[in-house]
Amino acid sequence: MSIHILSPEVANQIAAGEVVERPASAVKELIENSLDAGAIDIRVEVREGGRRLIRVQDDGCGIPAAEAALAFERHATSKIDSADDLSHLTTLGFRGEALASIASVAQVSLLTHTRDEAAGTLIRMAEGREVERSLHGAPPGTSVTVEHLFANVPARLKFLKQPATEAAHIQQIVTRYALAYPERRFGLVSDGKLLFQSTGSGKPYDVLLKVYGSEMAREMLPIDLNDERRATAEDGSSAIGHRPSAIGVSGYVGAPALHRGNRSYITLFVNRRWFQDTSIAYAVIQAYHTLLPVGRYPVAVIFIEMPPEDVDVNVHPTKAEVRFRESGAIYSAVQRAVRRTLVDHAPIPQVGLGEPATPVGGGAEASAGAFGGSAWAERRDALLGAGRQGRLLPAAEDQEPALGYQGTATPGGASALAAQSSVSAPQPLVPLLRVVGQLGATYIIAEGPDGMYLIDQHAAHERILYEQMLAEHAGNRLVVQPLLEPLLLDLSPEQAAVAAEELETLNQLGVDIEPFGGSSYLVRAVPALLSKDNPGAALVEIIDGLAAHTDLVEATHEARLVTLICKRAAIKGNTPMNLAEMQELVRRLEACRSPRTCPHGRPTMIYLSNSDLARQFGRT
Ligand code: ADP
Ligand code: MG
Repeated sequence: MSIHILSPEVANQIAAGEVVERPASAVKELIENSLDAGAIDIRVEVREGGRRLIRVQDDGCGIPAAEAALAFERHATSKIDSADDLSHLTTLGFRGEALASIASVAQVSLLTHTRDEAAGTLIRMAEGREVERSLHGAPPGTSVTVEHLFANVPARLKFLKQPATEAAHIQQIVTRYALAYPERRFGLVSDGKLLFQSTGSGKPYDVLLKVYGSEMAREMLPIDLNDERRATAEDGSSAIGHRPSAIGVSGYVGAPALHRGNRSYITLFVNRRWFQDTSIAYAVIQAYHTLLPVGRYPVAVIFIEMPPEDVDVNVHPTKAEVRFRESGAIYSAVQRAVRRTLVDHAPIPQVGLGEPATPVGGGAEASAGAFGGSAWAERRDALLGAGRQGRLLPAAEDQEPALGYQGTATPGGASALAAQSSVSAPQPLVPLLRVVGQLGATYIIAEGPDGMYLIDQHAAHERILYEQMLAEHAGNRLVVQPLLEPLLLDLSPEQAAVAAEELETLNQLGVDIEPFGGSSYLVRAVPALLSKDNPGAALVEIIDGLAAHTDLVEATHEARLVTLICKRAAIKGNTPMNLAEMQELVRRLEACRSPRTCPHGRPTMIYLSNSDLARQFGRT
């Protein structure tokens, strides 16, 4: 065959392959057109999974009679003018391809009517050619009907799934747009049955209820932007080097008890456009680190808002993939917002008797009693006098396997969440607790009005010190301890590099440290928290911690440093405490803003309810 230019019909069919893969892709393009036309009410009707018929009807601006035929021309669009416009898109469409592509693989009729014209226009297309154009009565808006999709493309037809499967794909498309546009009404009718209808109330939670049902929706936690800002401010990060970000993250994330077998329940939008991105989805998954059972995935609906010029949506014909100018910043903004939401709403994990034990990471560090001493140990020694007290309680090893960590909400937690889901959640606090004793020199057993609490002494103390130090720092009253003699730290080159980089943060937080030639540093003062127990070793450990970059949440330098200092200063596991010490610790924990989690986001306590106990003992 000689080289020749393909006819427009064939060229369109080839191009259509990229845009219209299955009925759901046609529905997606038509809905986007309706949204771009400013429609408030969008109705989708399909028959036989969209293969027989797809109709999308809207009450948008309509197309003027003189332009209606042009809409089916390839690269005909009213949305952009120049290539320049591509860098700051505000519409969902811009390629001018969808109608041309759909018309080349189906019979299409367009009925459209603008508000200022007397009559509407009807255009019928068959095999990519116009077969009818007439004036036609119609309500304001546009209705596009697509019939016998792929009838002329047997190869495509072969790959279509059962009508029910195709209808499910269509429903997914409709619900995604409904979530992203809660102020518009979306309806979906399939073979005469109403499958979905949103109210257009403007409240995302209302759509969430319709999409996921009330059982699931009540387990979803709102990402509260203000909450996120407040947290960052209180972390002290606003004080130093905190840039206000142009990236906004909102949406809903499932409580850890709500999980699924795959990642398809992570739904992402950027500037109200759905997109796929394994890296950002991973940011969501990472934020649940240690909170979900192995192999399970969270449920999340994430809306990212950012300047349109910082995201390129013109990467893929169906616009399912996007490219971010600063993907790292998006990754951390999403991870931080999700993690913060989870930490803020963290219920006290409940102990389930008789449930299979699910091992959960995070306990190991708390009980790693590698370092003795610390301010606590000193106080303890003083309180105990010469004689060291042993365990107050037997370790009860044989009970342990039955105590499974469930990671579920406390009873009533679910309904409490439902009640608060559209407003910002109150801080979860702990009731007043009565200390009963210590377990394994590592956990404090306490009694509350509603059951038993097992408190991880190290994690709890970390939380207390963390909030104390941040408060002191914020109020410019951080207690700093000058050293009697300056301390010379001989660091490894790697450690010295970290010290150099973090010098300012170290100084801000009360570590008076200065370079002393080569990889040596001179320390003249340390935060009081670190002064008691070998400050040199403590600093080296903290510098190593700074180098490790292991935190889950992208915290500020300052918050990371505070976390490391508190981890070092907190009482370790495997340290006997007497009753007075434990009471003091519990009292200070009760006064914390976020008493239920340590600064790393792990639980400080687990809970066993009275009703669970009664049930296990057969009392009910
Ligand atoms: P694009 O959306 O990329 O511009 P399309 O082929 O989807 O390309 O649509 C071509 C043009 O037809 C649009 O730019 C718009 O002017 C017009 N159009 C399509 N659908 C509608 C609609 N539902 N309401 C109003 N105008 C529409
Ligand atoms: Mg379009």
